[in-house]
Amino acid sequence: MQERPLIPAIPTPFPDETAGSFLIRLIKLNGHIHSSTFYRSKIDLKYKETLNSIITHDYLFLNLLKKFQLPHSLKELSLQRHSSTLRGCVIWKNKLSIPDYFFSNDVERFCPLCLKEIPYWRKIWLVKPYYACLKHQIRLHMTCPRCQSTLSSLRTEICICSKCLGDLRNCEIETVSDEQTKHIRWFLAFIETEEQEKFNLLKIFWSTLKKFSAHDPAPPSIELLLEITYLFFMDRDSSIERMVDWISKRSHQVHPRIQLVPFLIADTMYFGQYTKKILEQLPVPTELAPEHAFHLLTIQESCQILDICYSTIQRWIENNKLHYVVSKDIPKNRKFLSSRDIEYFLVQKALHPSPKKLKPPPRKDGQRLTITDVATKLNVHYENIRCLIRTRYLKADKLLVRFRWAYFINSKDLEEFNEKYILVGSLAKKLKVTPQNLTEKLASIDIHPISGPHIDGEFNNVFLQESVRHLSQEVIEKIVNYPTLTGRYPSFEEQLPKPLPTYLSLNEAAKKLHISPNKTARLVEKGFLEKDTSHNLSISISIQSLNILIANLHNTKFIYVKQALIRLNCSANWFHEYWVETGFIHVHDFLYWHFVERHELNKVLRLKKSYLTGTEASTLLGMHKSHVTNLESQGLIEPVYFGMPKIIKLFKREDVLKLKELGYGAIN
Ligand SMILES: [Zn+2]
Ligand SMILES: [Zn+2]
Repeated sequence: MQERPLIPAIPTPFPDETAGSFLIRLIKLNGHIHSSTFYRSKIDLKYKETLNSIITHDYLFLNLLKKFQLPHSLKELSLQRHSSTLRGCVIWKNKLSIPDYFFSNDVERFCPLCLKEIPYWRKIWLVKPYYACLKHQIRLHMTCPRCQSTLSSLRTEICICSKCLGDLRNCEIETVSDEQTKHIRWFLAFIETEEQEKFNLLKIFWSTLKKFSAHDPAPPSIELLLEITYLFFMDRDSSIERMVDWISKRSHQVHPRIQLVPFLIADTMYFGQYTKKILEQLPVPTELAPEHAFHLLTIQESCQILDICYSTIQRWIENNKLHYVVSKDIPKNRKFLSSRDIEYFLVQKALHPSPKKLKPPPRKDGQRLTITDVATKLNVHYENIRCLIRTRYLKADKLLVRFRWAYFINSKDLEEFNEKYILVGSLAKKLKVTPQNLTEKLASIDIHPISGPHIDGEFNNVFLQESVRHLSQEVIEKIVNYPTLTGRYPSFEEQLPKPLPTYLSLNEAAKKLHISPNKTARLVEKGFLEKDTSHNLSISISIQSLNILIANLHNTKFIYVKQALIRLNCSANWFHEYWVETGFIHVHDFLYWHFVERHELNKVLRLKKSYLTGTEASTLLGMHKSHVTNLESQGLIEPVYFGMPKIIKLFKREDVLKLKELGYGAIN
């Protein structure tokens, strides 16, 4: 009575094979002509993109394996992801968390010579900076060499393009230099041996370099990004030379300082000296770029470019020396400056340098405060203060104390800040109102922050003290109807830098989950919560991941496993063997909380009304638990088989009752 397995022949995977490669070979081996019909028999596959996402995500791929009853161990062929989101970070070789943009789609990029040797896809080909095969020292192909189209993950032959039917192995090869392979080797060693903190620096450099290249007509090649990154870490002087060349080529369109703005505003202290040295080697333009490429600059960017503080720009605007860009494409509560104006100021500064001011002697007055001190004083989060410093609202000095760089704030500067500005969080606490939607509420009575996610893409909502001084708790509480700002300008949103994700401290997250901070840290470690990997000073937890977890814990479709056991009247072991391993019930594991789905439990409860397990049937007959099995071997009762992958044997309740009537049970 054993059912035929869904897939009769399963190829043996190569240890370094990709999931996509394995599936193509599996489909071919089982004689399917169309892979899309093969997939659609079990999964809802609407687009090729869905399959591309599934095969490079261990969690999604495991689901696919389950649907096709394939061994779960094959999960290893896909990429391990940090979270269940489609493009979450990849956990490379159980160590580093690497952003998705370092990886390509599966079964696309290949070395033709490797394919000639053994035709299957190598996992290392998914790593984008691995743009050449180290074994054959030739460049990987990114498309079909014959028709140039991107290779489809839905093909049925590993080495044949499904569009033109050309053999991928027959193509021209391009050798790469020893220098180029050296860069690739370095990158591979880097991601296998370095710590997360050092990798984060590489990640920031890489993405900043990409932003820097935005003034180029075409996006930068992977090999160029890799080369400059390699030089940044291994040969800083050459890297500076390359950057100087790069900037010079574009300086007829964009001023060098404006070109360097991604590096000037990057939230890391490593780029300060780097950009300084680059600028020292470049001539200072004394006239406007002849083919000036106009673009919008935020106030923060402009401050960094001109090396002035926020209040100076503010004063220039008040005195009509500088104007915000007016355009119907810019929402009225967002402010931008023109690159042309900023460049004009740069040139003026070069033409009429202000007499060198003597550095004021270090102030003796005031106390030296750490970021944490200031956060406590202002009654806001650590992260808020870091951003205030980055955006230069709050002056801070970077000092080397006990071999570590740290920011310090002079208490006088903090007083100055407090006189002029207030953060939305501090304002809420001062007014004794909830901080949620306070910015939106104030906007409805025409009080707007001067900086914030909806103003200049910055993290903090900063208000001028004078604009909020008259407010009181009653005024805020009277505001009931107010529009929310989310999603108001969709088309424009996309062009602007995204506001930073918001994070919560470990302790705050623990409080929300009603568990200890230690336990919360374990949730982060196990990937149930995401932490901010951009800095390692303290664990902060992504609010989004916390909300997802809390939503799951309160999801009404779930019921605790413990409660399910009571309803099923069975032990944990028995529950596992009979209902979980057989696929009737799926356990949702959130480390400290285990749930099952209510509808699955109800299905089992309904089933149990008509069917009995061997033990239950024997008990009903008042006999030893093997009794029914004996009756079965005598042909007196027919079992019914259920479950996948494990099969269980059940007996119809009415059959058992009939046997009891016929006297096969104990006499009571
Ligand atoms: Zn090769
Ligand atoms: Zn082709």
